[in-house]
Amino acid sequence: MPIPTEIVGSLPRPMKLQEAYADYDEGKIDLDELEARQDEAAEDSIKRLEETGEVLVTDGEQRESSFATYPITTTLAGTGLADNLAGDGQYFAIFDDGHHRQLPRLTGGPFRYKTFASEFVEKNKQIASHGVKQAVIAPSMLMLLYPLDEEIEGYSRDEFLSDLCDEVEKDIRQCFEAGAERVSIDFTEGRLANKNDSRNPWTGRDMLGDFIELNNRVIDRFSAEERRNIGIHTCPGGDCDSVHSKDVPYEKLLSRMFELNAGYFLIQCASEDDKESVYQLCGQYSREDANGVPQVCFMGVIDPLSPDVETPEGVKDDLVTAAKHIPVERLGATDDCGFSPFSRDVKPKHGSPDFARDVAMQKISARLEGVRMASEELGI
Ligand SMILES: [Zn+2]
Repeated sequence: MPIPTEIVGSLPRPMKLQEAYADYDEGKIDLDELEARQDEAAEDSIKRLEETGEVLVTDGEQRESSFATYPITTTLAGTGLADNLAGDGQYFAIFDDGHHRQLPRLTGGPFRYKTFASEFVEKNKQIASHGVKQAVIAPSMLMLLYPLDEEIEGYSRDEFLSDLCDEVEKDIRQCFEAGAERVSIDFTEGRLANKNDSRNPWTGRDMLGDFIELNNRVIDRFSAEERRNIGIHTCPGGDCDSVHSKDVPYEKLLSRMFELNAGYFLIQCASEDDKESVYQLCGQYSREDANGVPQVCFMGVIDPLSPDVETPEGVKDDLVTAAKHIPVERLGATDDCGFSPFSRDVKPKHGSPDFARDVAMQKISARLEGVRMASEELGI
């Protein structure tokens, strides 16, 4: 069987769609019109991904405010915020270029999703002729909705975490029920947990262990057979062509991440200075048997933050090197991150989001061809 390959999740939203989100915030268009623009961009994403030969396709998160906030708000500006939330929560991340992204703040209970990712899967299944995958958000990200130090009166942290785990479990199960073949959980806060950025207090609280424990509370509700198709994505962030935690030593995360009982991992690597050390760490720490499931390491061979298109030869060389450190039956290939995890992203290094969509398709094609070449060279 050739080396498996999988997209992370997002694609840049066309400028026309980004403008529609802004128009919706300003009340210039209604929800029906916003959804029509989302559907149009989703269909274009799926068709174009299928043209590249991508095995499992997605809508590129065109219908999502962001990879993290789709369950709780329609737009990043907070239009359509779910019940019991206010706009002024913790920073999720402060990026290297100085911009930041902020989460809403929980004000009371109970915590409930207003949108489940299965709604996107259902729509995408109607359009796609290839199999469909879906990315969902980790409980470890949404636990940051609860104030860091205070307790909410009448809704304890424990009650919240219990409700949160139930909602995330439902999110994943419903995606499979709607026909998704794979569900990957975005875990970009993993590496950020050791950032110790004084401007962003939670990154100094050594929360990685809590994150892993909470995520396993959900993952362990699934059978080994189900967990084969449940993945974890890690990256140092990827928004507006900038990162938030690439300066955090990767080993701090990779030495712990494989404690998660997931069946596969989508691991940023192409943009690392020393890729071979990342392959080595993944080979060292990934498990042959994670409570009944082998952990497959999908190594990032494409950098979505750079407009330079990788060559298939370069992708092949990376995978052949990775195979020296990771057993080939547990090796896969992916992109370092989604191409635009937040709905408002003008892709500054690319010049425009529309051009960045074209570049993304070229990069995905290079990954697919490089995977084919590497599989041939490795004789699998
Ligand atoms: Zn990412």
